[in-house]
Amino acid sequence: MFPRDHLKNWYKGQGLWSDTPDYEWNTWQWQMRNRFNKKEDFDGYLKLTPDEEEGCGFADQKLLMSITPYFFNLIDRDDPDCPIRKQVIPRKSEKIVSPEELLDPVGEENNMVVEGLVHRYPDRVLFLATPYCASYCRYCTRSRLVSNAQDYNLHSEYDARIKYISEHPEIRDVLLSGGDPLVLSNRKIAELISRLRAIPHIEFIRIGTRVPVFMPQRINTELCEILKEHGPIFMSIHTNHPKECTIELKEACAKLLSSCVVMGNQSVLMKGVNDNADTLMSLSHRLLQMGVKPYYLYQCDLITGSAHFRTDVQKGIELIRQLRGFTTGYAVPQYVIDAPGGGGKIPINPDYVKEITGTEIILLNYQGNEYRYPLHGGV
Ligand code: SF4
Repeated sequence: MFPRDHLKNWYKGQGLWSDTPDYEWNTWQWQMRNRFNKKEDFDGYLKLTPDEEEGCGFADQKLLMSITPYFFNLIDRDDPDCPIRKQVIPRKSEKIVSPEELLDPVGEENNMVVEGLVHRYPDRVLFLATPYCASYCRYCTRSRLVSNAQDYNLHSEYDARIKYISEHPEIRDVLLSGGDPLVLSNRKIAELISRLRAIPHIEFIRIGTRVPVFMPQRINTELCEILKEHGPIFMSIHTNHPKECTIELKEACAKLLSSCVVMGNQSVLMKGVNDNADTLMSLSHRLLQMGVKPYYLYQCDLITGSAHFRTDVQKGIELIRQLRGFTTGYAVPQYVIDAPGGGGKIPINPDYVKEITGTEIILLNYQGNEYRYPLHGGV
C-alpha cells in the first residue's frame, strides 16, 4: 500500500531565515544574493561531512556550488543522506571518473549548429539561453558549460541563434534551456520569446527550468504576464523527490497554470535520492496535485564524476513496473535513456508483450495475468 499525500503534510521552506522579513525572503533577487556559494557559507548553518568538505574544495573547477536559502531549508540538517542535500552539495565522489563517462554525455556538441543552439531532431532545437542557474545540480548533464566553471563561456547573445532558426523553416519547436532561462531578467525573457514568436514557422515554445523548484519566488506577476502574452508556453520543471513539492512550489505552479503555461516535470533517477517506488509514487501524486504531469524519468546520464548517482537500468524498469497499473496513468513518467553520443531520448519500458504468434498477441497486464488479442484488424 503506497502512502497517501495530504496537503497538510506539504513542506514549507523558511525555518532558518524566520527573522528575514517576508518582503526580502519572497523576492528572487534576495534569494540569488544570499546563496551558499562556498564552503564557509555553511558555517553556523550546516556541519559538512568530510566527504562534502572535500567535494566543496574542487567544485569551482568542475561545476560551481550554489544553493538558494529557500532550497537549503529543505535539507534535513541531521541527515547526511538527505535526498535534497545529495543533489546540491558536492561530494568527493565527483572526482572519480569512470571509463564510460563523458564531458558531453548526450553528444550535444556534435549537433551544435551555432554557439548555444543544438539541432539534433528534424523539427526542433535546443536553445541554450544562459549558462547560469539558481542552484547547481551535482549530476547536471551540461556540467561542461553550466556555471562556466570549466571556462566554456557560453554567451547570452542571441542574434546568430535566432538567425539560424529563422532560416530553417523545418524548425517548429524551440526548447529554451541552459543553464536556466528563468534566471534571466523579465526584459530579456520577453525579448527572447517575442523574437521567437515573430518567426512564422515557430509553433511551439518550451522552457526547461528548475527555477520554480529552487526559487519559487521568481514566479512573479510580471513574469506570468509575459508568459501569458506569448502563450501557450510549455514548461518542464525538474523535481526529483517529494520534499521539493512544497506549498511555495504549488503556489508558483498555480500562477503559471493560470497564465496558460502547460506544466510537466522531468526527474532524474538517482541512487539514494529517488530510487524506490514509494518515493517516485509520492512525487508523482504531489506533482499531479499541483497540476504538473510527470513527464520523463531519466536514467542518469554518463556525466563525468556521476557514478555514485547511477542506478542499474534494470532497477529503473522495475520501478516503472511498480507504478504502471498501480496508480493513475498520468502519474507514470516515461523512463528514458538519453543515448550517449547524440542518439536522442529512447523510451525504456517493462515488457508487457509475452509473445506474438501468427494470429494473436499474448499480453501480460500489470498484475502479470495473461490476456490475448487478435493480431489482425477487422474486415
Ligand atoms: S538546473 Fe538544470 S541546467 Fe542547472 S544545474 Fe540543474 S540540471 Fe543543470
